[in-house]
Amino acid sequence: MAGKERISRRQFVSTGASAAAVSCLPISKFSKAMLSEAHAMDSHISPMGERSDWKEQGVENLSKSPFAKLRNIPVHAVTIQSGFWAWRREVNVTKSIPSMHDLLEANGRMNNFRRLTGNSKDPQRGPVYSDSDVYKWTEAVGFALQSGDHPELRSMVEKVISEVVAAQQSDGYLNTYYVGERASQRMLPQVQTTGHELYCMGHFLQGAIAFYRATGDTKMLDAGIRFVNDFLIPGYGPPPKKPIVSGHPEIEMALIELYRITGDKRQLDLAGYILHGDDRIPLPNYRTIYMFSGTPFTARTKLEGHAVRAMYACCGSTDYYLETGDATYWQTLNALWDDMTKTKMYVTGGVGSRSDGEAFGDAYELPNYLAYGESCAAIGNMMWNWRMLAATGDSKFTDVLERALYNGINSGMSLDGALYCYRNPLAFDPSTGEKIRNPWYDTTCCPPNLERIFASLPGYFYSTGKDGIYLHLYANSEMNWHLENGIGLKIAQKTNYPWDGSVEISVTPAQPSNFTFFLRIPGWAAHASVSVNGEELSGVKPGAYLAINRRWTPGDTIRASFDMTPQVLEANPHVVDDLGRVAIQRPASLLPRRNRSALGHGLNGCCRGFDRVLARAISRRIQKRSLRRNSCGPFSRCCLPERQVARCSVFHLQPRAAQNPPSPPHFYSLLCVVESPSHIHGSLDVVPENLTCPLNPALHFRATSAARSSPGK
Ligand SMILES: [Zn+2]
Repeated sequence: MAGKERISRRQFVSTGASAAAVSCLPISKFSKAMLSEAHAMDSHISPMGERSDWKEQGVENLSKSPFAKLRNIPVHAVTIQSGFWAWRREVNVTKSIPSMHDLLEANGRMNNFRRLTGNSKDPQRGPVYSDSDVYKWTEAVGFALQSGDHPELRSMVEKVISEVVAAQQSDGYLNTYYVGERASQRMLPQVQTTGHELYCMGHFLQGAIAFYRATGDTKMLDAGIRFVNDFLIPGYGPPPKKPIVSGHPEIEMALIELYRITGDKRQLDLAGYILHGDDRIPLPNYRTIYMFSGTPFTARTKLEGHAVRAMYACCGSTDYYLETGDATYWQTLNALWDDMTKTKMYVTGGVGSRSDGEAFGDAYELPNYLAYGESCAAIGNMMWNWRMLAATGDSKFTDVLERALYNGINSGMSLDGALYCYRNPLAFDPSTGEKIRNPWYDTTCCPPNLERIFASLPGYFYSTGKDGIYLHLYANSEMNWHLENGIGLKIAQKTNYPWDGSVEISVTPAQPSNFTFFLRIPGWAAHASVSVNGEELSGVKPGAYLAINRRWTPGDTIRASFDMTPQVLEANPHVVDDLGRVAIQRPASLLPRRNRSALGHGLNGCCRGFDRVLARAISRRIQKRSLRRNSCGPFSRCCLPERQVARCSVFHLQPRAAQNPPSPPHFYSLLCVVESPSHIHGSLDVVPENLTCPLNPALHFRATSAARSSPGK
């Protein structure tokens, strides 16, 4: 630690944070544990009677976060109607979530809890982080219930919550792995780095919060508060308490979301302490790189190590910034975001190129076949960009969020909702026998993670700001909420997005009102036009929110049109795996509805039927010589006949290094990769070690190791 800037523990107690205090839950429903700690709570907090503001809380409750420019709206305020996401979400609720419940049972995850209450004699089953699978599933149900009642799901989750909470110990501790003969290892420093106790509790809190925001029921939330306030905060933290480290970041964002409900500032401070790292737990360099924790987050300069850990640490740190306004965090977050989007993100929004350590690779190390691209990492990317967007209102974050959602995340679940990808490689050869989609993994982090994201999706469509409303995502949908000044507002989107780039938006304020409608113009759109009540607007700029400030009256209609012509993308020449390849992106193609038979056949199967359409588009582009020249992959000199555009495999792209200002790659999926077998640089299936670019010897690349046969954590 010598030479590194030390930050005093007191600096975590930010002055700005106190302004973020939110009022507490109904006193009658809150645990004694919480109230016993009330003396330490922020002075803004005063116990209140029954309250119903849980109904108003979104994916994140930023209503009092002092450094949030945008505020979430509740999941229930947006109804996604017929269309792409309505169908995916329906499958999620009717098939994926119920079947995951059965799989958790069948694989002993619930008996792990029952064992602790004498209701099961089965031995502990599953890896050390198995409790989190149950909690993530609970969160998925919580979000599903926020969109409307599902009596069967509700009774299912209430039973799960009862059995989970019953296993909690009297001191607040809850974990089904570190019990019995393992109890003596509980929270030992070396166990904290690998044992996932805090990771599990983070997911517990998120599950509890989602269920609370659906129902107002605090049973699980109370248990989470008991863990945090009775066990964690009194025992762990700055001296003289015992040291604490986040072996797998997750607890940080959960503690901050808990703080946003309880107003108990000690929860925010503990998150800040963990993000800073506790130097009483000595860790080798490779370990702090892998965990993306254990050293000050603000000392990080690049994304490295385990991709999900890194993304979750970035989420927690952005949350910390939203509450404290700590400028060093903001600086670090932006540097890391630039590092990711310029050099380490696939065109799918997936991250984590190495299977070895499920880790980020070096800059431009983005192999296709060997890509790891864990579903959880793409989800972490989406959640991080949601937080960065809240801090800024900058659509560059929404572009990455949308890219990850439609590609790196969406690919993680089969169309029938029964199979899941852990890895999401960008190229896949079924003849290897590897099953890329499976109903269950012993490390089953991704499936319930996908379920919670699909269930929470309505909460990502809009935000409010002090000047008006922000529209982020497009789908046939209806929003029924209000502006921050309290004026009711309904917004209806009619569209066939993402199959079509036209959107009709009717705006219905409760009374004629002046406010700004911030309409996202996707960065991938080559051209876009927007009109209000038939009058064309100027200043429409892809990659920005169009601020439409006027007096809105019921019946006003916005019409937006985004050019969805297929685009040919070429990779940054530093990405050696893509030499000689281009990708095509068009929104309507990742999971074509007319090709549902592609289900379960791996990523390659998704694109059949679109080849000819795309081939024609590519041929036209090439014949018109509209492709930019690529110093390493001279496609501009190729004339590809249609038959060569038959290979469907996912492919990635990076913006050019010299691009200024840098922007994320264009949108959506790659539907297919153009590969010319005769091309000098085509079809590099395996990157040899220490490859030097033939056209630029100064460029050197290191290979990743072969993909492991089974995912680890
Ligand atoms: Zn995962």
